[in-house]
Order: sequence, then C-alpha cells, then structure tokens
Amino acid sequence: MSAEAVTGPAPAGFPAPDRRAGKGVRRAGPGIRFPFRQFIVKAHGRCNLACTYCYLYEGPDSGWRSRPAAASAEVLGRTAARIAEHARAHALERLSLVLHGGEPLLAGAATLARFTTEVRERVPSGCAVHAVVQTNGTLLTEDRLTVLADAGVRVGISLDGGTAAHNRRRVDHAGRPSWPAAARGARLVAARFPASYAGLLTVVDPALDPVQTYESLLALRPPALHLLLPHGNWTTPPPGRTGTRYGDWLCAAFDRWWAAGRRETRVRLFEECVALLLGLPAATEALGLAPFDAVVVETDGSIEQVDSLKSAYPGAASTGLDVFRHTFDEALGHPGVAARQEGAAALAGQCRACPLLRVCGGGHYAHRYRAGHGFRNPSVYCADLQRFIRHVADRLAGAAAPDPSPREGGAP
Ligand code: SF4
Repeated sequence: MSAEAVTGPAPAGFPAPDRRAGKGVRRAGPGIRFPFRQFIVKAHGRCNLACTYCYLYEGPDSGWRSRPAAASAEVLGRTAARIAEHARAHALERLSLVLHGGEPLLAGAATLARFTTEVRERVPSGCAVHAVVQTNGTLLTEDRLTVLADAGVRVGISLDGGTAAHNRRRVDHAGRPSWPAAARGARLVAARFPASYAGLLTVVDPALDPVQTYESLLALRPPALHLLLPHGNWTTPPPGRTGTRYGDWLCAAFDRWWAAGRRETRVRLFEECVALLLGLPAATEALGLAPFDAVVVETDGSIEQVDSLKSAYPGAASTGLDVFRHTFDEALGHPGVAARQEGAAALAGQCRACPLLRVCGGGHYAHRYRAGHGFRNPSVYCADLQRFIRHVADRLAGAAAPDPSPREGGAP
C-alpha cells in the first residue's frame, strides 16, 4: 500500500484546504519552510496481502525487510511526543494523523486507538487531531471498527474497484483473492459505521472501464474517493502507458462524476482540479504548487519522506533522521523535503514555462524522476495531465457560459 490516504468531508489523510478568505493559502518559495501537518505513521510494516503491483514490497526499495514488523510501544510513544513538539512549536490548529502500513490493522485496533489517544493528549489544547487508518479492508470487523470509532479514528480503504474482477491483482500471500473480505469490510463500514467512513482509495487501471469502475466504487457508498495514478517515472514508465491513455481515463470518469448533477461522492482529484482552475487554493500531492507537508515515521522510528519516492530508486525516501534523536523541524531542513516546498522554483524549465503550471504544478513529485537527472523534469504523465486539466477547464467553461438557446417568450 502506498503512503497516500483517503481524504474525506472532514480532514483525514490529507487536510482539505480552508478556502475561506484566503485561509489555507500557503505560497511555496525558496527558503520558506512550512511545518508538517500530515504525520504518516507505519504502525505495522508488513501486509497480509501481496498485491502483484505493490511498489512498496515489489518495487526497487527493499528497506522494509530490515525493519521491525511492528512499531514498538517505545517508537509510538516517542512519535507521539515528537508530533506534539512540532504542533507546539508551530502553533498548529490541526493536523492529520495517518495510521499506515503495510496493513496497520495487523498492529491491532487497540494499539492504533491507544496511540491516537496519546497523540491527542500530548498536543496542545486547540490542536485538532484528525486520525484515519488506511487499510486494505480485509481485517475490518464489528469489534475492531467499534474500537476505532470510539477513539475517533476514521477508516479509509484501498481497493482497485468495486468488483471481484477489478481486484483480481489484490491477493493474499497464497494467491487467494482478497475481494470477499475487503468487500465485506467496506460494506460493514458503510452500513454500521458511516461516521467513521473516510472513503476509498483507488489506483487507476487504464485497462478497466472508467465509468464502470467509478460506479462500482460508488456502490460501496464512499463519502470520498481518492483516485491515484500508478507510480512510475521516466526511467520506469507507468504500466500500459501509451498516448494519453491515463488522461483519457480520468476525463471519462470526470464526465460521469460531473454529469451526476449532485455530489455523489467527493473525488479529491476532480475537486482540487476544479478549485485550482478557479484560482482557489488546493492541497493535493498530485496537482498544484502548494508546499508538501507530509512526513513518515517507519516502524523503527526512522523519519522518512513519503513512500511514493521509493518507486524511483532504493533509499529515495530516506532522511537519515529518527524520532529518538531528531525533531521534525530537523526533517524540514532535509534537502529532499525542502525541494518539495519550493514551489515553481524547484520545477523543470519546461514546467515553469507551461501555461498549466499553476494547476498542474508539475504533477506528483515521484512521477518526475529520471535516472541521472533527478526530479527536475516534467511529470511522466505530462501529456495525460494536460489532457485532463484542459478537459476539466472546458467543462467549467461550458458550465459558466450562458445558455445560448432562446428563452420562451423572450428575445433570442
Ligand atoms: S508536467 Fe507538463 S502539464 Fe504539468 S506543468 Fe509540467 S509541462 Fe505543464
């Protein structure tokens, strides 16, 4: 599973930007440091599934093998203290706590609940902690969901679609399909714990029909849907990428979502694209120029950058820091973190000159990598992003244009 997490009506994996009166507008630039607001904690570093495409366990970085399977009580306690220290130092009014893995529920729902409570107790009063566990859904039971709900931990579920066929590559270590258990878990959350349901996270598979995929996910009644492009870069291209295949997929899914005429579910990528096109601030890793503000704590207490970087090359997410010896402020000074807070200044010349720069922002950082050239390149999805952003802009323009048809009884 990647380090991404589902967003929701209330801040979950990624806090929604506060768009009131310019609040939440954070302008990136050289030398400007922004505090971390998303703390992704690897409560458990192994997974009960072995999805065939998983870049974390099947990708170039095998650092997980040498780490403890689960975060110890000492690591979790130290992490809670460091998060509180950072919240105090930067007077944070809210932060996101993402309980991640591997499969975090392997750590036990009670452990996750206890850790979340400890973070809430340690941060200064006035700092809201929005907690979400990002799970593959297979271990969700009534008892575990009750423990999580009582602790105010919401649940985001990773699925490839809403049918068994869509999830054929999500299998356990014996090759058995995970869909029956995952579907049972998702339906249980939707039916019995709707207030705890953060939503679904799905990696786009261009081989699947976009409308059918969207509608099948909708049947699981997610309050939010987080669509991700699969990780890839110029050296290791995304699977099956030809022409604007991924962009076409997103356009078709967007049209289905847009044409509903009501918000069937929040689709973060679509809503953020619309917001950016309207000149509103947005905070997504996939689009825009907002400074990136997420940090990861591994099961051994290492402070790392987000997992997606591991799809580029071994050690790409490493900082050399850990929660025992270092503060999160020290991680803000890491060159890799600083580069993601510099906005347009850190982008390739082609991106800086691009008319879509303010909306696209060069795309997801991990998708810009080219061996021997680093990350200062356009996204490997450049053509797809152009296709998608221009398409959404056209839809917006169409919605804003006055109805050209003559009014009944009026002048044409
Ligand atoms: S990745 Fe492509 S579309 Fe995005 S800003 Fe760079 S050149 Fe423009």
